[in-house]
Amino acid sequence: MTQTTLKGSCLCGAVKYEVTGEPQRFLHCHCSRCRKATGTGHASNLFLQPGVLTWLSGEEQVRAYKVPEAKRFTNSFCGTCGSRLPRARDPDTVMIPSGSLDDDAPIKPQARIFSGSRASWSCGGDGLPTYPESAPQ
Ligand SMILES: [Zn+2]
Ligand SMILES: [Zn+2]
Repeated sequence: MTQTTLKGSCLCGAVKYEVTGEPQRFLHCHCSRCRKATGTGHASNLFLQPGVLTWLSGEEQVRAYKVPEAKRFTNSFCGTCGSRLPRARDPDTVMIPSGSLDDDAPIKPQARIFSGSRASWSCGGDGLPTYPESAPQ
């Protein structure tokens, strides 16, 4: 994959960001944590690796909530409007909640994961590969 630069922002516009890196994965996650954090049937997350996240404005508004018992599930969001925001994790991976992007995503969703936790009303049926838990590496 080629290097790409994407811009995004939150609902109130206070937080703006830019991410640069190589798009690797784009996954719909149906796990219960993603459902709670998004208020929807699944999260749609784009992963850049290597990736670099730069806050262009509003970094002081960015809040993070880590689920205490989770290994790494952290919800990053705008403290004013509550919109989900990207997060740098591991050494060099950036996870972007795709709905926060102002640019079009450079790749299409590849799979649905944690279908074992899928809500009965959640959308689906688009023929994407589906995994009961995390996607195979
Ligand atoms: Zn905001
Ligand atoms: Zn999830």
